[in-house]
Amino acid sequence: MVSADGWLGDVCVLGLGKTGVEVARYLSDLPEGRLSSVTLYGGASSTEGDVTRELAEKGVRVVVGTESVEGHFDLVVASPGIPERSDFFRSAQAHATEVIGEPEFAWRESPERWAAITGSNGKTTTTSLACAILNEAGISAAPVGNIGNTCTTAVADRAEGQWFVAELSSFQLACSKRLHPHVACLLNVTPDHLEWHGSFEAYAEAKERIFANLEADDLAIVSDLDGRCRDLAPRLEARGLRVLRVGLREAPAAAPRAWVDGDALTVELDGQRHGLVSVGELSIHGDHNVENALFASALAIALGADDDAVRRALRAFSALEHRIEPVCCAGGVRFVNDSKATNTDSVEKALTAFEPHRIVVMLGGHDKGTDLTSLSAAVAATCKAAVCFGEAGERIAASLEAASQGSALRVLRADHLADALDVAVASAEAGDTVLLSPACSSFDEFNNMAERGRRFKELVYALREREGE
Ligand code: ADP
Repeated sequence: MVSADGWLGDVCVLGLGKTGVEVARYLSDLPEGRLSSVTLYGGASSTEGDVTRELAEKGVRVVVGTESVEGHFDLVVASPGIPERSDFFRSAQAHATEVIGEPEFAWRESPERWAAITGSNGKTTTTSLACAILNEAGISAAPVGNIGNTCTTAVADRAEGQWFVAELSSFQLACSKRLHPHVACLLNVTPDHLEWHGSFEAYAEAKERIFANLEADDLAIVSDLDGRCRDLAPRLEARGLRVLRVGLREAPAAAPRAWVDGDALTVELDGQRHGLVSVGELSIHGDHNVENALFASALAIALGADDDAVRRALRAFSALEHRIEPVCCAGGVRFVNDSKATNTDSVEKALTAFEPHRIVVMLGGHDKGTDLTSLSAAVAATCKAAVCFGEAGERIAASLEAASQGSALRVLRADHLADALDVAVASAEAGDTVLLSPACSSFDEFNNMAERGRRFKELVYALREREGE
């Protein structure tokens, strides 16, 4: 635990990925009098290299090739890739006064002005949009956390008076204890990452920890559409917290609330009604993006953003890369890259963004073994064709065939992404949308979803060139 005078004692960092390295660098740059030693355990598969040498030169004791922690530490900061149930984590726990996650560590170092966002889907979009609105309103804000900027590094560079809007994953929240944002959002809770947490219950509980330290003058923002969030809201209110519920076309029962009133995104908070923009003025599409926009607006308004700035930012914000990202049109067919849709719920949401029966969806990749019932029903109801590819392709195709009895859906198969695109193009006509929204992670064919998305775009551009457009 950080003592009142900031003394950290003997600190250990677990993991040699981006998070672990950045925390170790931060610790080794601290002024004299903050700690007595920094050790980094890289994990079983870690080896010596440029980074370990750099850290060693900065005074960090680096231990590679093992997950068996020895000695005693006052504080351990664990990287999000290391599950609480793993031997590595448990070994650290047995040799430490306290084990915490990286955002918790950063918060302890600089605890003022934090807002936080979590959920199974929509975190990055909502975090980016909330920051865009705040900055438009002249309130300095930086996106930190899971979005790619380690909270700890952001602390080192923090500008005076700046807000942090932290995108937090369930992994990061699982190891948080005292992290206390002033505004915290839970967008939705659908099954994901169950292999890390062990069960849906443990995953949902980790997400709910975002509210653990809120107090009466803070604000919790939760979905009024998601079952788990709906159950949670009264429990938060019973703690004396203010809870703003986010609906869609139906207004949540009472203020504070946010929803689409008629056609206008609307937020009611602290006795004030804020009529924002119409759904058609947003350039991010689909019901889920309207929800994301409502969350981001409510968060920014709670932190003091004025309505005009909210409106300007909402109109200006366009899709982030790999998230229902328009690529181009070729032969009258629109191509959309939603490579970030790595679970079934995000695909179901993406399908709401396009005209029904004009969608050719590309599904597949690394098989996480997720239940496909609901996804298959949604695809059968909205798509004209589905091209199933990669390791999970056959299982998805079989599930779609079972769900599409009597519907017009054509279920097609391909080996890899490139063949899948060819098959998709062959079954699309002018006016249709070819949507890569794979419902799977990418590891069977790519290093990550961004590489898959970029490859998809390259293939689409090459196709457009061949068509001479
Ligand atoms: P995250 O950071 O939580 O992964 P992103 O904003 O990167 O979320 O979006 C990931 C994918 O999830 C997108 O491709 C989109 O299809 C889907 N998505 C975005 N927002 C939502 C939401 N509110 N509910 C469900 N799915 C969503």
